[in-house]
Amino acid sequence: MIDIGFGMADGADLLVVPVLADRVLATDSDLVPDLDSLSAFLDVKDFSGKKGQNLFVATPGGVTNEALLVGLGSEVDLESIRRAAGSTARSISKYGTVATLLHDVGLDGAAGAVLIGSQLGLYEFNEYRSEPKTHNLQSLVLVGDGDPADLAESAAVARGVVLARDLTNRPAADKSPEALAEIASSLHEAVVVTVFDEHEIAEKGFGGLAGVNAGADRPARMVVMEYRPDGATATVAFVGKGIVFDSGGLSIKPAAGMEPMKTDMAGAAVVMAAVRAIAEAGLRVNVIGITPLTENLSGGSALKPGDVVRIYNGKTMEILNTDAEGRIVLADGLSLATEMGADLIVDIATLTGTAKAALGTDIGALFTTNEDAGERVLAAAQSAGEKFWELPLDTDYRSLFESDIADMKNTGGRWGGAIIAALILAEFVDDTPWVHLDVAGPARAEKTEHYITKGASGFGVRTLFSVAASFED
Ligand code: MN
Ligand code: MN
Repeated sequence: MIDIGFGMADGADLLVVPVLADRVLATDSDLVPDLDSLSAFLDVKDFSGKKGQNLFVATPGGVTNEALLVGLGSEVDLESIRRAAGSTARSISKYGTVATLLHDVGLDGAAGAVLIGSQLGLYEFNEYRSEPKTHNLQSLVLVGDGDPADLAESAAVARGVVLARDLTNRPAADKSPEALAEIASSLHEAVVVTVFDEHEIAEKGFGGLAGVNAGADRPARMVVMEYRPDGATATVAFVGKGIVFDSGGLSIKPAAGMEPMKTDMAGAAVVMAAVRAIAEAGLRVNVIGITPLTENLSGGSALKPGDVVRIYNGKTMEILNTDAEGRIVLADGLSLATEMGADLIVDIATLTGTAKAALGTDIGALFTTNEDAGERVLAAAQSAGEKFWELPLDTDYRSLFESDIADMKNTGGRWGGAIIAALILAEFVDDTPWVHLDVAGPARAEKTEHYITKGASGFGVRTLFSVAASFED
């Protein structure tokens, strides 16, 4: 990650200047004396300030020798700043030190938005490359005398998203449940971590997690992270689906469907990353992070269609499709969160292809049993720049997963799969306000665009962080 802080433009290799539609400079910083002279370029070149337009211009004798005009279009908000920062970061990556005015557009929080957009836009996953994809950019100077503390929170969030992307991009072979539990255990000194191994998982009665793990050689882990700062009163619990590889189990996936399945632990990665970011930022709110971790394979002891597992809260589930495994392990995680007690439980999971079919790759599905909780999470997501849309938790569909022999089945037929999965999860949260986030679409990016880079997106870290922040006293 690069160095980002406030300072002066002098000595930088390039100056980034935001421009609004109709060639209006978006900044009037008096810290850059020759800013007005850039207006000349606006008139002569084919550059209107349209969103996404970029123009490098030579500015010999100016505060820097070169400038980059960045078009923002006619309406500017924090998300358009993040996006412009993400694209701009890649186009300036051959320079060593760049000064920017992208944050100087009269919006509260714009400096943090530039930081997040820039760090995420420059993201590369280099762990397995002989020749790492590197860039020259060392330092981005936000021109001005802002308070460094204003950037600390955004820096923690950016580091969190990078951690989530790294863990999710990593091959399944190199992220056993045990290895991920170890990473969770050393996230931050203020986070107390309890790891239940396969014996404790069986003893305590996490029958869903044990069941899904039965077909795998590498043992499961149930990880509980607790951050309880002095003076905090509210408690929020995050539960993340941690399937380190999903083959479908005996209900095996076709080869193409299996290709991206190392990312089926994106929810767990997001929870770990959010917990660390919250601890780093020192938010005054109690946070519990729970991640059931296992792979879903088809070994000789694997769950068979027709088997019944008993979830931590005592309810039984008949497993008819072993590829609907996320809800089975989340049922244990949600039961535990409910028992531990929280003002709000939010789970996040790459749960159903149906959610992706309904909302595409940019928008997550949100379900809730509690209107206020749903509105709180939607508002947090909106402020963080992540998109969710609420789908109905229509209880008429409960009849679709009635079992002949157990309390419920783990599937409910072909239609409305995202809703059925959410209704099944709702069986494990009692009356605790609960929000379910199905991120099967946005957890993985098919192409690089603004600050989203191809591969794991870390989608959800920013929302969970904002949800926690909304509970601060
Ligand atoms: Mn599956
Ligand atoms: Mn899965």
